[in-house]
Amino acid sequence: MKLIFASNNIHKLEEARAILSDFEILSLAEIGLHADIPETADTLEGNSMQKADYVFEWYKDHHDTMSNDVIGCFADDTGLCIRALDWKPGVITARWAGEACTPADNRAKTLKLMKGISDRYAEFKTVVTLILWDEPQSIDTPLKQQFVGTVEGNISEEEWGEKGFGYDPIFIPEGHELTFAQLPTEYKNSISHRARAMKKLADFFGK
Ligand code: IMP
Repeated sequence: MKLIFASNNIHKLEEARAILSDFEILSLAEIGLHADIPETADTLEGNSMQKADYVFEWYKDHHDTMSNDVIGCFADDTGLCIRALDWKPGVITARWAGEACTPADNRAKTLKLMKGISDRYAEFKTVVTLILWDEPQSIDTPLKQQFVGTVEGNISEEEWGEKGFGYDPIFIPEGHELTFAQLPTEYKNSISHRARAMKKLADFFGK
């Protein structure tokens, strides 16, 4: 059975394929969807649903859903929420330092705003939205369900580590002294916010 993951990010696809090992996970490129998917909602839940809905509608229009074993699709949206910054950047985590910013710009902005602040608590939150259209659902009345994964931690004083991506060099998960970018990738992937949300998705199928 096949599930579409609304992503072309190789790291995310690897994570998803390891956790959802009972399924063949298809990327957007593999189903022929090359458009930019809009993310205009003002919550992680809204953006995650918007992405999943977009893929669902597109797939219905471009493929014969009755003649293949693709049973659904899922999308994710992630935010970093920092207590001392009023839980920002949250839904604007990707474009925190501006529309055309790089991950390095985002980290630099965060460290600058956090300079001298002793409360460094932060959490990553991922919302995964599943849309399922196989039995007992149908393409006209699909099931839509969300799964949330969080990881608590602290923002470091400076950048440490080379691994990972995004905010990894400045996020120290609870109970650790190293940043996500210093921890072994496999280990990070096993405790990450996204892994936790996807494990809930896998558990849903295990029911
Ligand atoms: P997205 O929703 O996965 O596109 O992520 C939104 C933002 O959060 C982007 O700026 C990512 O770089 C960042 N982000 C998502 N997951 C992680 C992670 O596991 N580590 C570090 N940054 C992340």
